[in-house]
Amino acid sequence: MEGKKGIAILGSTGSIGTQALEVIRAYPDKFDLQVITANKNADLLIKQAIKHKPNRVVIADDSLYSKVNDALWEHDINVFAGVNSVAQITETSEVDVVLTALVGYAGLNPTLTAIRAGKQIALANKETLVVAGDIVTQEAREKGVNLYPVDSEHAAIFQCLVGEFQNPIEKIYLTASGGPFRGFSIGQLAKVRKEQALKHPNWDMGAKITIDSATMMNKGFEVIEAKWLFNLKPEQIDVIVHPQSIIHSLVQFEDGSMKAQMGLPDMKLPIQYALTYPDRYKTDFERFNFIDYPELTFEQPDRETFTNLNLAFTAMEMGGNAACALNAANEIAVAAFLKDEISFLDIARINEETMNSISKIAKPNYEDYVSSDAEARRIAKDIVNK
Ligand code: NDP
Repeated sequence: MEGKKGIAILGSTGSIGTQALEVIRAYPDKFDLQVITANKNADLLIKQAIKHKPNRVVIADDSLYSKVNDALWEHDINVFAGVNSVAQITETSEVDVVLTALVGYAGLNPTLTAIRAGKQIALANKETLVVAGDIVTQEAREKGVNLYPVDSEHAAIFQCLVGEFQNPIEKIYLTASGGPFRGFSIGQLAKVRKEQALKHPNWDMGAKITIDSATMMNKGFEVIEAKWLFNLKPEQIDVIVHPQSIIHSLVQFEDGSMKAQMGLPDMKLPIQYALTYPDRYKTDFERFNFIDYPELTFEQPDRETFTNLNLAFTAMEMGGNAACALNAANEIAVAAFLKDEISFLDIARINEETMNSISKIAKPNYEDYVSSDAEARRIAKDIVNK
């Protein structure tokens, strides 16, 4: 539609996806919702399609095609099914921006397909950069595609860099809430249950990222994501625990000056900015009140207890397929933890053992990443089943 941005939301039924739909609905003269996709949640996908009226929907699980198609045919909405369709739908000519709000490794192929089709990317799916950041950023550069960060920390860094493109970054600080188990000892962590791990103090998110936040794997992945998004060396990235989640991250420049981006924790803001950059649209989101937060505090992350953070730094320094293996192991371990098959501390152990056992590839191509992901999943599953 003339003058409007055509948007595809991959993963519209998730936490980011549903919030993105609210953002898009608030600006009908700016956005034109073209595509929404889900994995298995056909009921919500159908509801969303009837309410938000995209031109196309995709259900990744093709056994659910008839259900979705039967519900939507009278609404004049085209229905597609299958994992490949999730990627191919991004090539639709009416789509300008693809919001990658699906979770895990499944985001890699659709993101690359969208980049190759020259679509701008609003990137929530950090796993894509963890797995294959070198290929993704190189292809984006070659195609002139921008990767607009949705992750609140990276959106913060991105906002701090507006107007600073000539000025090198000395260092960035990614803030971390510390999750529900901040201050816990190893002994305490050994006893935590998934119900506790699924309760994040400040953010309401999908199950996988909530567990990743509790284990600090999420912050580790964000470190790797930052390296690729902002072209940084490992020693330029630091993590600081900030339990209130008001400062979303900071950039330190070479003159020593630091810029931070602040606000109440609400993912709708970074989602919206990724879709509207460089403009800021007026919102009625709740505003920050200093009096409600007389203290903003900071502390060092406990890397001895939350070893996943160190694992991510190690994977980043190793390069090659190490982070791809770490991501795959973590997906298997988190899924097993959510099924009560392993304990909380087993997650980091499985991640470490898998990363140490994977066949190392120094300069992987896409096929190498696919096979490393599969190999790491096999190794991690074997450890889970031991
Ligand atoms: P959710 O689990 O809430 O949603 C995931 C979405 O992806 C759902 O629509 C799901 O469909 C779909 N999906 C899952 N697996 C597949 C698959 N194999 N193929 C196709 N689609 C799939 O996740 P979140 O919204 O919490 O997170 C999405 C991404 O954004 C993650 O990478 C996360 O790290 C990142 N992120 C999330 C934040 C948040 O606040 N939630 C903050 C910052 C980053 P279905 O519903 O059918 O299962």
